[in-house]
Amino acid sequence: MPYILTEKIKIGISACNFGARVRWNIRGWDKFSALDRERNSFIWTPVCPEVLSGLGVPRATIKLVGGNGDEFWESKAKVKNKKGEIVTEQIKKGTLAALENVKRAECEAFVFMEGSPTCGIYRTTLKNKRLGKPPGTFGSLLLKEELFLIPAQDLQSPVKWWDWRRRLHAFIWLKRKEIKSKKELYEIWHNYKFICQEADLEIARKIGEEIAQIDQLTNKVIQNWKKKVLMLLRQPSTFPRIKSILQKHFAHYNKHFNGKTEKISLPPDKISKTNFINQIKKMEKKAFIEKYDFGGVPVIFRSTER
Ligand code: SF4
Repeated sequence: MPYILTEKIKIGISACNFGARVRWNIRGWDKFSALDRERNSFIWTPVCPEVLSGLGVPRATIKLVGGNGDEFWESKAKVKNKKGEIVTEQIKKGTLAALENVKRAECEAFVFMEGSPTCGIYRTTLKNKRLGKPPGTFGSLLLKEELFLIPAQDLQSPVKWWDWRRRLHAFIWLKRKEIKSKKELYEIWHNYKFICQEADLEIARKIGEEIAQIDQLTNKVIQNWKKKVLMLLRQPSTFPRIKSILQKHFAHYNKHFNGKTEKISLPPDKISKTNFINQIKKMEKKAFIEKYDFGGVPVIFRSTER
């Protein structure tokens, strides 16, 4: 049976993706609406570090000079605007204020705007325009906080969002879980191994071997183990991998029930990504109702709210 998460996850989001016109050119995007009814399954905290810096809207574009966001916090890099003015101090204050908001709201995940010299994590280049080296100033802090990070553009892709969402649920459940015995640890690994193998087979195998060799379950052993699994859960999968692991589940599901339950059909090879995800969601639902162990989704969210 999957583990069940009942409490809504609190997620921070770069405000310009939340429909707020906070970008330098008085624009924003409503990427958030793509989630439709699922939006209500989370509690959102939109923040814009550049606006909190007091730079206003509209404003001159900014870029990192002399290093990346990590170096910015070590006072080795600066932030300069298009007019040539140094705005380092303002950005420091605004970015720290944004982080404080995210922490006060108890966010455990953040949806970031990739490409921005402030909110970007792996890229600080927008429309081929280099705005410094990644991560951005805020991105650097988000990475240090070990939040679960989701790129905003993936909210609009049904496949990518489905992948992020199941990883997010698995990440948060495990992060919060207090593990008290070896038996409990083995059971959790049994439920988590498929999603971990999908991310990186080699690392997942090593984690499995390490568990088998545990003599004494100390707090340090548990924390080390959790850290490795949480790291894997932060890695996105790919459509071919999702497809392959889930096709195995479809086949196993039908074999397992052997006509005792209504069959669900194996998605054909040429199915569109959206239809494939719709089939998966059906599978998720049926697996839950029929108590079938669906390893691709070890944790599901069921709100206790009406
Ligand atoms: S990317 Fe970040 S700093 Fe830039 S407008 Fe969006 S929220 Fe504000």
